[in-house]
Amino acid sequence: MSNIANNHKDVLAKLSAASKRAASDSVPTLVAVSKVQPDARIADMLKTGQRIYGENRVQEAQTRWGETFADQREGLELRLIGPLQTNKAADAVALFDVIETVDREKLLKALVKAAETQGTMPRLYVQVNTGEEDQKSGVLPADLPAFLKVMRETYGLEPEGLMCIPPADEAASPHFWLLSNLAEANGVAGLSMGMSGDYEAAAEMGATSVRVGSALFGARDYG
Ligand SMILES: *Cc1c(COP(=O)(O)O)cnc(C)c1O
Repeated sequence: MSNIANNHKDVLAKLSAASKRAASDSVPTLVAVSKVQPDARIADMLKTGQRIYGENRVQEAQTRWGETFADQREGLELRLIGPLQTNKAADAVALFDVIETVDREKLLKALVKAAETQGTMPRLYVQVNTGEEDQKSGVLPADLPAFLKVMRETYGLEPEGLMCIPPADEAASPHFWLLSNLAEANGVAGLSMGMSGDYEAAAEMGATSVRVGSALFGARDYG
């Protein structure tokens, strides 16, 4: 078995064990975060049968899944987990099955326009800036009810879930707890939370999907 296949098996086993500890009857969906990873690792991951991939950047994802691995695109689910500029909204609607980073009305407007033209709308998550960090995108927790009202009533869009990226230098669990409470208070079902360092904690706290990169593929080499 390749390293990648071993990692994949290991992460799935840990997710399953964490869900059992939480007495949950469903295991979170594993989103394999393929950003920046070399093609050989992606090819190994595809061989495991892993079908759901997360990407940060529209253009990089277009190259990887629209060119390099275009022959394997059928049956894959692609999720955008990085910030989306309105001028890339049409490209994102064309490529992704799920957009997890909806966070402002201008973007909703651009997505609806693109969806009308293309006749298809990805499933949507609202990103929440649980740590209220200046440099991070996402709706502030206090603004979430108003944002969801606009999304639902003005644009007729129902989010599949909420998504958060906790501050790098803080314990993640309080952020997962906050996201889970916000979802419940606002009638949203899905929770995209947990990355390589904390996906087990996220699974214990009710994540419906986790976004795991380096624990599956190995470290990203930005060099
Ligand atoms: C890169 C990234 C991940 C994966 O991070 P790892 O620590 O490698 O698992 C998850 N979520 C988002 C939003 C990311 O940008």
